[in-house]
Amino acid sequence: MNNPNLEQPADTVARLRATFRSGRTKSVDWRTTQLRRLREMLTDNGTALAEALHKDLSKSSTEAFRTEIDATIGEIDHMLDHLDEWLRPAPVPVPEYLGDATAWTQYDPLGVVLVIAPWNFPAQLLLTPVVGALAAGNAVVAKPSELAPATSAVLAHLLPKYVDTDAVAVVEGGIPETTALLAERFDHILCTGNAAVGRIVMTAAARHLTPVTLELGGKSPAFVDRDTDPADVAARLARGKFLNAGQTCVAPDYVLTDAETARALEPALAQAIEKLYGSEPATSPEYGRIVNERHFDRLSALVDSGRIVTGGDRDRSAKYIAPTVLADVDPQAPVMQEEIFGPVLPIVTVADLDEAINFINDRDKPLALYAFTESAATRRRLAAETSSGGLGFGLPVVHVTVSDLPFGGVGESGMGNYHGRYSLETFSHRKAVLDKPLS
Ligand code: NAD
Repeated sequence: MNNPNLEQPADTVARLRATFRSGRTKSVDWRTTQLRRLREMLTDNGTALAEALHKDLSKSSTEAFRTEIDATIGEIDHMLDHLDEWLRPAPVPVPEYLGDATAWTQYDPLGVVLVIAPWNFPAQLLLTPVVGALAAGNAVVAKPSELAPATSAVLAHLLPKYVDTDAVAVVEGGIPETTALLAERFDHILCTGNAAVGRIVMTAAARHLTPVTLELGGKSPAFVDRDTDPADVAARLARGKFLNAGQTCVAPDYVLTDAETARALEPALAQAIEKLYGSEPATSPEYGRIVNERHFDRLSALVDSGRIVTGGDRDRSAKYIAPTVLADVDPQAPVMQEEIFGPVLPIVTVADLDEAINFINDRDKPLALYAFTESAATRRRLAAETSSGGLGFGLPVVHVTVSDLPFGGVGESGMGNYHGRYSLETFSHRKAVLDKPLS
């Protein structure tokens, strides 16, 4: 068996391209076999993967299964259920002057795809794009994140045992390895990471005119209306925010609300956190840790950005930062200048909905916008007057689990999208075909 990490990137890509050119990845049978094998990999090795995720991020087994392993299995099942139907050529009407001609669109695989994954959901965010790329009939180079080394190693070990190694290669490594890969010509690149990496990937892709899907991040606001029940909203917010210790691209980054609602939310959030993780979150098996010291130090510096309502405790040696809520946060404070990507939730006050909408629109378009309100008119205004990758009313984060919704950002939070049939569209060329009979 080839070991892609001992192979030069050019050789890996050439080997995969030869497989693609052979035509074997195009058959629906090959595609579904790969998806079934990936599914088997996850069901056979769920525990090993969960252990690796615990090593990298102290994810609890429940969380590892729910957000990484079972989430990917769900995506595979959705794809297997619909692939035949989605791949059917779609007829389109032709103008009258073309007589008995017919026309249709069909999905063509692109060739060799590169998937670059981040560390925060290191299994799911590598495998879900791979599922899409294989379903679309491509060969794939999968590059896990070096910042989640245990998960990267398990995936590099397992994938070749289950999928066609002439069509799927795992290349482990960090910046040098990714830079070397990016020098090669791919037919599509999907990269999940921060916007600086997105710019590097897009620049490298431009040399080969390779299309890119960039799944980036940003500050996702959560607007809380005064007509809501603080305890209920706090419980929903806390669950979404402190999942994976806040290291979730679609986590609510900050709360936007009026001063009176903020006062009611403060104790409600403290109670919601206690309900989730107990009075000592450091001892809760359900609460994760920060990925590394660099991110710990970055987050630690943000805790002083406001009045601490709850949390604030931290322990560098354990990479532990308690679930923290900050109130009276100035929009100019450090915590409001960058994506937090950790367990710190600032509350910023605005006078009313108009000011909230302006606040959102004055900043980069977020990956997600959340709103908690009983008012249909407010929901309509937020939907119509703001732009974000996704919009969640009443519950944060979970819109990404709906396979029939596209997942992706807009503006600074990314370009393109995937999941379900949107993955098929992303990793295929929709070819226009016209057929005019000769006789
Ligand atoms: P990361 O450091 O793991 O980097 C992402 C990938 O880019 C890795 O595979 C890494 O090896 C590679 N990389 C890093 N620097 C590079 C360079 N200079 N040249 C080439 N490749 C390079 O992860 P990260 O960027 O810290 O991830 C966190 C960011 O990702 C956050 O902004 C978060 O919001 C975003 N994110 C987005 C999504 C989404 O689906 N939209 C999901 C998760 C995370």
